[in-house]
Amino acid sequence: MNISDNLKQVNKTIPERVQLVAVSKTKPNELVLEAYNAGQKVFGENRPQDLQQKYNDLPKDIEWHFIGHPQSKQVKYFAPFVHLIHGVDSLKLLSVINKEALKNKRTINCLLQFHIAAEETKFGLSIDEAKELLHSDEFAELKNIAICGVMGMATFTDDEDKIRKEFKDLKGIYSTLKKEIFNSDSYFKEVSMGMSADYQIAIEEGSTMVRVGSSIFGARNYI
Ligand SMILES: *Cc1c(COP(=O)(O)O)cnc(C)c1O
Repeated sequence: MNISDNLKQVNKTIPERVQLVAVSKTKPNELVLEAYNAGQKVFGENRPQDLQQKYNDLPKDIEWHFIGHPQSKQVKYFAPFVHLIHGVDSLKLLSVINKEALKNKRTINCLLQFHIAAEETKFGLSIDEAKELLHSDEFAELKNIAICGVMGMATFTDDEDKIRKEFKDLKGIYSTLKKEIFNSDSYFKEVSMGMSADYQIAIEEGSTMVRVGSSIFGARNYI
């Protein structure tokens, strides 16, 4: 398996307007460097301590995204440098991120995660929950975070129509929030959807950011 070739193949299928986040979770630094040397500069990790370790070890012009669900006490590991946190789904977590951002004298970019899949999961907001959160007084106090868009994961299935519908739903949620809440905020522009198995469908349905791991780095032994 050759990471540079894989990357080329993936890039061929992604239009210019869509950003590729190379998901390097569980993969060693040597493989990340291989992708880096082939031109990839944006990477995603889902464990706070792994992300901190890779940030320390690897070139400083890498743009690091956090794509998982940090516990409150883990936000500090990546708060000084993280470029974007995908998958924020509570006011409590937003407050913690805001506090860590303040400590680091910066603004931290976040995406709100929505529950679009049929599968039971504890992660992700509904549109009503998101509106309530965004209209709350507590949210208005959080000056050191920027909500840059939405993120979601489709059901793990071979049923393309189902996946497509879920991505359509997420794009719809994005459009509603853009119109009703973020109309004058140019930074609210991202729809993070699509992984190795379904990113082509996601792009057809309006994804601006795909998170691709195994198609670049090969299969993982664990999530
Ligand atoms: C692991 C992961 C990915 C990448 O998955 P692949 O199927 O390997 O492309 C994307 N998004 C999230 C949130 C992940 O945890």
